[in-house]
Amino acid sequence: MSKTEVETVEEQLKFETCGICQGNKEDGIHIYHFFICQSCERKMIETQPEDEQYSYFVDKLKQMNKKKQYS
Ligand SMILES: [Zn+2]
Repeated sequence: MSKTEVETVEEQLKFETCGICQGNKEDGIHIYHFFICQSCERKMIETQPEDEQYSYFVDKLKQMNKKKQYS
């Protein structure tokens, strides 16, 4: 393993992939076994159920749930 590869592994351990924006973030929350970064968490909290964005987030969570069940 080269030095670069080791650093990449360490970065993967420190950062988690957000299930909403697919970005690698250090800070966030876990809902069940999903990781949601802080900015997406905030967006979700601010989104009202009548907003179009709300169903987008719900769909994302459902998709993640399916993925986990079949893997
Ligand atoms: Zn995110």
